Amino acid sequence: MNPNLTTDRPTFVTHLECSLTGERYEADQLHGLSRAGRPLLVRYDLDMVRAVAPRAMIAARPTDLWRWRELLPVRHTSSIVSLGEIETPLVPIPRSGGPKVLVKDEGCLPTGSFKARGLVMAVAMARELGVTKIAMPTNGNAGAALAAYATRCGIETIVFCPDDTPEINVREIAMQGARVYRVNGLIDDCGAIVGKGAAEGRWFDFSTLKEPYRIEGKKTMGLELAAQFGWRLPKAIFYPTGGGTGLIGMWKAFDELEKLGWIGAERPKMFAVQASGCAPIVRAFEEGVEHAERWEDASTVAAGIRVPKAVGDFLILRAVRESGGKAMAVGDPAILKAVDDCAKKDGLLLCPEGGATLAAYHEALNTGLVDEDDEVVLFNCATGLKYPMPAANVAIDKDGPIDFDDL
Ligand SMILES: *Cc1c(COP(=O)(O)O)cnc(C)c1O
Repeated sequence: MNPNLTTDRPTFVTHLECSLTGERYEADQLHGLSRAGRPLLVRYDLDMVRAVAPRAMIAARPTDLWRWRELLPVRHTSSIVSLGEIETPLVPIPRSGGPKVLVKDEGCLPTGSFKARGLVMAVAMARELGVTKIAMPTNGNAGAALAAYATRCGIETIVFCPDDTPEINVREIAMQGARVYRVNGLIDDCGAIVGKGAAEGRWFDFSTLKEPYRIEGKKTMGLELAAQFGWRLPKAIFYPTGGGTGLIGMWKAFDELEKLGWIGAERPKMFAVQASGCAPIVRAFEEGVEHAERWEDASTVAAGIRVPKAVGDFLILRAVRESGGKAMAVGDPAILKAVDDCAKKDGLLLCPEGGATLAAYHEALNTGLVDEDDEVVLFNCATGLKYPMPAANVAIDKDGPIDFDDL
């Protein structure tokens, strides 16, 4: 048995806070967005955490997501539905990336993507707070993670995805016990259906950042990086940005770690990577504004970052700007070339969104935003096995002559 999941540990949540206005909300109650229509952030008594859970104690635990319990919102271990949320490896890609480039390979997580981090937390909290029916809009991976965790603990799930969502994602969602519907629109059109049903009291709305706990799950990427780097951070992080939960979560993690005195004040440059066919955050970054307009006619092979409008846009933009990083867009050809390069040269099969970070890294290198000697981390958010690959169907007739020189 995993000791991280057998001991009931206290939680140190004090309250929740509107990310825009700072307005305070009670812990232990079901919340969606704040009254200002913005994401809620979970706040902790970090002085207490420092007093009862020294860094060395956490470092001595098995290295899964639940070692961070004191910095997570779940109160009772019995609320947690685990499928084995391991610490993901940092894989060097010296040939397709460079001597100091590491890929954080999130494809090793349950359901094959880092959506598991957010959803394992959000589902545990939903269960703790008595939710019995959940709906969600998804480009695929979030729906799969929701279906897996919610089904496992008997919560009913209804999932809506754009009609061109990859077949494998739709099927895995259905296989894992959700009712899944294709919608003739994009993810925000699916979100509108979810919102309407939620307003009618039919279900709880699990859209990205519309409940407070997915950020807390995604925050563990930042906590893990700090531990893996020996309580410091890399020079730069390239993050494929859709709704931005992970980037916002990591930025929050770094703040909490500094307040705990576990890391210093230095921060990585945060690069929010989008596809040029759907780059609302990049456009807002370049225009110097705080909020991003909806991107019309969004299209890219990297489905996970095809998000025309993000409710946490200002949080993504703030983190990128404060860090001295940049929001960058890369085209589909560069994305596919990066996936191909990494697979052929380094034997690591990235998802297209992961490929986008590798393409953006090379652009940042060429334009002097990062140096070849800088330690950088690229996020590969899902296993490449979930995505279409070029055909490889050369056959051999075992009964005919085989030209071995030609093989
Ligand atoms: C969801 C997803 C993203 C975007 O993550 P956010 O934190 O929502 O921005 C990137 N890549 C993949 C594969 C995804 O499934």
